[in-house]
Order: sequence, then structure tokens, then C-alpha cells
Amino acid sequence: MSEFDTLFYRDSYCREFTSRVKSCQPYRKNYAVELEETAFYPEGGGQPGDTGTLNGKPVSDTRKIEGRIMHVLSEPMEEGTEVHGVLDWENRLDHMVMHSAEHMVSGLIHKTFGYDNVGFHMGEDAVIIDFNGPMDWDACMKIEAMANTLVRRNLMIRADIPSEEELRDMDYRSKKELSGEVRIVTVPEADVCACCGTHLRSTGEIGYIKLISLANHKNGVRIEMLAGKRAEEYMRMIMDQNMRISHLLSAKMNETAAAAEKLQNSYYETRQKLRIASEAAMRRSITAMKDNEPLVIAFAENADHDALRYFANAIIEEKGALTAAALCEDDGAIRYVIVSHASALRPLIKDLNKQLKGRGGGSDELVQGMFACKRSEAEAALYEVLGAKESA
Ligand SMILES: [Zn+2]
Repeated sequence: MSEFDTLFYRDSYCREFTSRVKSCQPYRKNYAVELEETAFYPEGGGQPGDTGTLNGKPVSDTRKIEGRIMHVLSEPMEEGTEVHGVLDWENRLDHMVMHSAEHMVSGLIHKTFGYDNVGFHMGEDAVIIDFNGPMDWDACMKIEAMANTLVRRNLMIRADIPSEEELRDMDYRSKKELSGEVRIVTVPEADVCACCGTHLRSTGEIGYIKLISLANHKNGVRIEMLAGKRAEEYMRMIMDQNMRISHLLSAKMNETAAAAEKLQNSYYETRQKLRIASEAAMRRSITAMKDNEPLVIAFAENADHDALRYFANAIIEEKGALTAAALCEDDGAIRYVIVSHASALRPLIKDLNKQLKGRGGGSDELVQGMFACKRSEAEAALYEVLGAKESA
């Protein structure tokens, strides 16, 4: 019997069938049941194995084990039992939609750029396809547009098993050298490819193809793709996000990016103004400080770690302090930079971090991080730990 003379190849739309148990064997912690004939597609060529039920009992996976199609069940089935099989049709249809769309995208990229599909995986979220050549996003969008044009034309998808002679003259995509019977799947104007998966009858059933990401991968690119219902759900999510951004920024739907850029620029400007004001306040506070104190603990407003480092160093260099702790309150925590010419800070900061639920570190001369405590708690602990060290 031909490898391709099974129910799911004769009719990829068969979702219910009757057969008989041919064999049953323990498989990992489950049982692998072989049927005389089946509509369950076994995992292969990037397409996941089918799920469903046999006589109402759940089939969690279908795989090819030593050349035999095995249905994975949690309980055994007796040899010779008549079986009524039902596929989880929504799941299988989703696989056929994604798989047929993948043919179109891979075929069109091959036709346009000459690249091969060198990896294909149907994930939980999206289909991942790897190609062995470079592409940019504009090129991806052109391929997507070409593919969707062919979807709308609702072209018939064919699967044939040509003779060896016919095959010799055929130009088709294939991942490996093939021998024996070869099944050729044709999507008119898009793809001719050797494939053992299940496909839709026509491109129109795909509905819509959406490429959602492009990244460099090995010597080529990795593309994430969605099709059919998954593409529709994704675009609904994107629409919802843009609608919310549109309301938040009081911008038209097609002007949200420009409005976000404007907002970002004004944020940078405000941050710059804050930095200038914060530095001026630090300068005033340094001017008012006494000279040659062994320990200075000083608070600044709106200061990041860079600004606090500047503050602490200036207190030491300009005011002759031996140890300076520059602090800033931020969202219920205390940002700190401590600089010392008198004490080794590394062991001390470990104690302080423990005491003040802090994190951070550095060298014996400079440490920085955050304390998760109140201003008064930080001050008291710093005077105790750093002050005690100075007098010792
Ligand atoms: Zn295929």
C-alpha cells in the first residue's frame, strides 16, 4: 500500500471515521494505538500531530513510530475493537490554514529572492519560518501583499504523486533528497513543493495572511506568520491597542505614531529641565555645607545614579568630606551613591543592604543601588554604620 493511501491524504477534510484497532502497546506513560486506517495526521514536516477521540477516549497526540501511525491514549484499546474516531476539527483546520499559508509565503519568497525555507515550526502563538538569505521589512510586506492577492483569487491547491519521469522534469522545492514516491503540493502562482502535510482545498479558505515579525537568524532571517482566525485575532488586538493609544493621545488612528513621538520628545525636554534644576539645587546645598566633615549624608531631588555620583564626589572633593552618601527618594524607595576615602565600603554595604532591604554594590571606594525603606530609616542606619566606622 502506498504511504499516501491513508484517509487524511485521500481526504484532508475527513473529520470522523470508523476503523479497527490493529495493535496497542505501552508508550511512555501512555498507550500507542494503531488503527487499520485513520484520519489522524501524525506529527511531521513542522505540522503538529492531531488530537481528538477514539470511541470517546481522548487522543492527546498522533505520531509516527517506526513507520506506523500511532494514536496516543491514556488507556489501552483491545486489538480488533471497532473504533469511531473524531478529530478535534478546529485544531486540525487551524493547522491546515497555517500550513497552506506557509506554502504560499515560502514559495513566493523562493520565487522572488531564491531563498530556501530552512526551518519551519508551528508554535502555540505563531508559525516560525527560517530562510537562508537577507530580507527587510518592506520586502516582507511585498510578499504578504502578493500572498493575500492569491488568497483572494481563491486558487485550487493540489496534491499529486507524479511518476519518476514526470518528477525529473519538475521544478519543485524540497528540504532533502527524496527517493521513492514523492507527493507534490501545488499552490498556483505561489509554490510547488514536496510535502507530506495536510492542506486546504483552496487559497480562499486561508482568509488572510499576516507576517508579524522579522529578525536576523543565522545567515538569513526568521519570519513569524499568522493566518486565518489567528491573523484576525491578532489584528483585532493591534486595533484595540491603537484605539487606546489614539484616545490617550487625542490623535487620529493613522497619526498615533507621530503623536507618540511628539510626547516622547516633550518627555525628554522635561527630563532635561528637571536635571538642570536638580543640579542647581545640589550646587546650592554644597555651598551651604561645612568643610572637612568626616561624614556627610545629603538628599537630592529628581536625581538618578549619575547625578548622585556627581553630588557625592563633589562633596568629597570640594568640601573635604571623608565619606559622602548622596540619596534621593524615588517611588517609596531610596536611591543611593556612597563614596568614601576613609572606609572600605564593600563589606559595609552588604550589612546596609540587609538592614534596609536594599540591593546594589560596587567597589570599596564607591557603591550604588536602592534601599527599600523610608528616608528616616536610611539616614539612621547610615549614620550608625558609616559614623561608627569613622570613629573606630
Ligand atoms: Zn505542505
